[in-house]
Amino acid sequence: MNNNIYFTPGPSELYPTVPQHLQEALAQKIGSISHRSKQFQEIYASAEAGLRQLLQLPDEYEVLFLSSATEIWERAVQNNVRRESFHLVNGSFSKRFYETAQELGREAQQHTVPFGQGFDTASIKVPASAELVALIQNETSSGACMPVEEINQFRAKSPAEALIYVDAVSSLPYPAFDYAKVDSVYFSVQKCFGLPAGLGVWLVNDRCMAKARELQELGLSTGSYHTLPSLLEKALSHQTVETPNVLNIYLLSKVLEDMNSKGIEAIRKETEAKAAKIYTYLESSSVFSPAVENPQHRSNTTIVANSTVPASEVNKHLAAFNMQVGSGYGKYKESQIRIANFPAHSPEQVDRLLEKLQDQFR
Ligand SMILES: *Cc1c(COP(=O)(O)O)cnc(C)c1O
Repeated sequence: MNNNIYFTPGPSELYPTVPQHLQEALAQKIGSISHRSKQFQEIYASAEAGLRQLLQLPDEYEVLFLSSATEIWERAVQNNVRRESFHLVNGSFSKRFYETAQELGREAQQHTVPFGQGFDTASIKVPASAELVALIQNETSSGACMPVEEINQFRAKSPAEALIYVDAVSSLPYPAFDYAKVDSVYFSVQKCFGLPAGLGVWLVNDRCMAKARELQELGLSTGSYHTLPSLLEKALSHQTVETPNVLNIYLLSKVLEDMNSKGIEAIRKETEAKAAKIYTYLESSSVFSPAVENPQHRSNTTIVANSTVPASEVNKHLAAFNMQVGSGYGKYKESQIRIANFPAHSPEQVDRLLEKLQDQFR
């Protein structure tokens, strides 16, 4: 039996209702049903409707299921970039999207700021030739976030034809996006949706679809089985191209029902209240300090702290109380800790984590 509470930034603690949904899935033999059955179409439709309600997603957006956010980076480049993309880079995940574009032979430009910093939107010039502008709402490696009001400025700053992409992998459903001001938002379910890994969700509008068709009409490759037009064709009948992660789509549909009955406003308020407590502790502690200096660029969902005690020592202390935080990312493995503050983490669990940290690391 594993009684740990995972405050790791993904995979993380499962949403509290997942065990009961998983049992029901086994009872219903969801793992055995055909992905061409009416039952699966209903599961897809339910997950899609749940997301539309929770995120207040406009009609011109499609909900597509892929295997991961990493896959979405590759499909985005293949389907929406003929020559050139432009990336805001401030950590490992935003850098990886930039590198993916290069690996696929595109001309990728980047605007970089040091690890742990947010962006000064006013000073960023988007190249006139950029076809895709890659923004990162929440850089999980460093804990820096991009306020939605700044994301909303990019349409006016970018070429008229450019598609605005937002990585919200470790923050959705927390940010209240204005979906009319961007073209695509994507996430994977093992972060804030509290599910096992293995499902990426790609929200794309009609402009992204039109661009993919344009590239195809020019005779250019947009990839193989997961081109946007083939994903769309299946999505319209609530199906997928390949045999998908049916179990996880089912679990997502159920967790979305739970999140919708709690209400997005309650989820957002609770996230902010828990984050405020965590930052208050980090600022008062002599061992930890918030890694992101500008309070406006501090993430509320993946909270990163500099630590004078090795992260492994912090986790050794927490292990006695069946809790675990994330270590730092990459070269910050021991010098930083990362605390996930996802909807799955109850206020009581956060209180207990802070109490146990405070006992040892004042
Ligand atoms: C986790 C993460 C990804 C990658 O997600 P996968 O599901 O592992 O492909 C991308 N971007 C950010 C910001 C992430 O936190």
